[in-house]
Amino acid sequence: MRNKSVVTEAKQINLAVELVKLGARLQVLESETNLSRERLLKLYKEVKGVSPPKGMLPFSTDWFLSWQPNIHSSLFIDIYRYLGKNAGVHGIDAVIKAYRLYVEHIEVNGLECVLSLTRAWSLVRFFEAKMLITVPCCECGGHFIVNAMDLHKNYVCGMCHIPSRAGKTRKAAAQAAALAPAAMPRQKVVNPSGTVAHSRSVRSRQTA
Ligand SMILES: [Zn+2]
Repeated sequence: MRNKSVVTEAKQINLAVELVKLGARLQVLESETNLSRERLLKLYKEVKGVSPPKGMLPFSTDWFLSWQPNIHSSLFIDIYRYLGKNAGVHGIDAVIKAYRLYVEHIEVNGLECVLSLTRAWSLVRFFEAKMLITVPCCECGGHFIVNAMDLHKNYVCGMCHIPSRAGKTRKAAAQAAALAPAAMPRQKVVNPSGTVAHSRSVRSRQTA
């Protein structure tokens, strides 16, 4: 056993349990605690009643740049930064607290939870690696996630110009619109022609 202090170990177990309950994948637990893989596996099964899903975590930033995930992710990163700046919460604690606030906002508005805890955790890592950044939308002033390597002059967000095929369903579009008051100071009417639908050139960048 790597942890000599019982108190430290108890804290680690509590953290792991909290993360599992929020839907974290095993890789997140391994990265954020010092507990052995065997113990984490056991813990995961005990909390969830099933074995953790196998396979790698998604290593691409692309998902965060697609339309609906971008809106949800931008909301999350905004909360995360706010907590860091104003509440002095950092690291995994900030991820957990920001994620809880994000979920609360989603539930209050009866929306679909698009961003998983594991995605939120990955997002913070992409920000730390400076692969993703936020830029203000030149129409609504809200801050949205973009690829750091892309050009962002006169950036217009996915809510000011909803792409014509965005979300595929009317329900998804309505859900995204319901997010608007939290993510941006004022709303704008969508261009009815739909011809200037904002499209992002999504670039595949892989983490090392
Ligand atoms: Zn905008």
